[in-house]
Amino acid sequence: MLQEKEISEIKSFLSSPKKITITAHRNPDGDAMGSSLGLLHFLKQLNHEVVFISPNEFPDFLAWLPDTNKVVIFEREYDKALPILQKSDLIFTLDFNALHRTGDAMQKTLETLTNPMMMIDHHQLPDDYAKYTFSDVNYGSTCQMVYDFINILGYNHLINKEIATCLYTGIVTDSGSFRFPKTTSDTHKCVADLIDKGANNSEIHSALFDNSSYTRLQLLGKALQNLKVLPELKASYITLSQEELDSFNYKKGDTEGIVNYGLSIEGIIVTAIFIENKEEGIIKISFRSQGGFDVNEFARNHFNGGGHINAAGGKSFSNLEETVKQFIAILAKEKK
Ligand code: 5GP
Ligand code: MN
Repeated sequence: MLQEKEISEIKSFLSSPKKITITAHRNPDGDAMGSSLGLLHFLKQLNHEVVFISPNEFPDFLAWLPDTNKVVIFEREYDKALPILQKSDLIFTLDFNALHRTGDAMQKTLETLTNPMMMIDHHQLPDDYAKYTFSDVNYGSTCQMVYDFINILGYNHLINKEIATCLYTGIVTDSGSFRFPKTTSDTHKCVADLIDKGANNSEIHSALFDNSSYTRLQLLGKALQNLKVLPELKASYITLSQEELDSFNYKKGDTEGIVNYGLSIEGIIVTAIFIENKEEGIIKISFRSQGGFDVNEFARNHFNGGGHINAAGGKSFSNLEETVKQFIAILAKEKK
């Protein structure tokens, strides 16, 4: 939690126009985009010059969020992004706990900067790079933290429809539409207020989840056919090879949420999806679990990743088949 002294320092810093940059993790999801754009619209209300720099492209299913057309993409627009970062009076880093989560390219740049940073994030074990760190794993989303941050500063009345829409989006996506365990009465009080301030809950849900292409649903069908169950390990997993992705005209965001199907089978407590990325030479993995099975630890210890207790991700540099074998072997070993 932020100290009283830090809060008053931040408040006085924000009381006159500043140059502020916001960034989030690579491959931004609903929470990364929603919290960044929500904070951006809030800081604009306070008359700051604000830019959101995303490490790489954001998925199409979030392109309707207000002002995505002004997002600077670091990996594509380095020459534009660098001076913005260098001239920042403050850099907000949202929805990640360590600079490497912005990817190799942006990490290198961020590490050379001496500009003060502020982290707002809900992942475990935050690194110590920021002047101000608002980090709390009890939150289900960074968006809910940004909402509390605005309230702590005493600016609840400045929350407009744009801010409410962005924050609502990340809360819906990171909570699996309000079903994951970190969804609390505070979450519902927060979204109730966001609805009062103009977030159209039904339209947002529809914009997020009723916008699939036909090929995306066919890809989901393929993923479900590829689903394997390991009852003795209470585990399941899905694979998608590059060839399969290509044959369904894969676009960024198309595999979002598919991993959860593996957990919907009775008796399964841990699941994973392995997605081949030939261009990056990796297998990108998402893990999900129920109860005490800690996939953050699992991803950290075995698959170059991390995240939360019940939702984490990582990557492997072996091929798809080897990676799956490794996954099963580790589970079998841990079971013992
Ligand atoms: P997802 O599976 O939806 O991509 O991510 C689930 C959670 O794990 C998110 O909180 C995300 O930030 C985190 N996560 C995903 N991939 C990685 C990774 O490669 N490294 C780390 N440290 N966290 C990850
Ligand atoms: Mn998040």
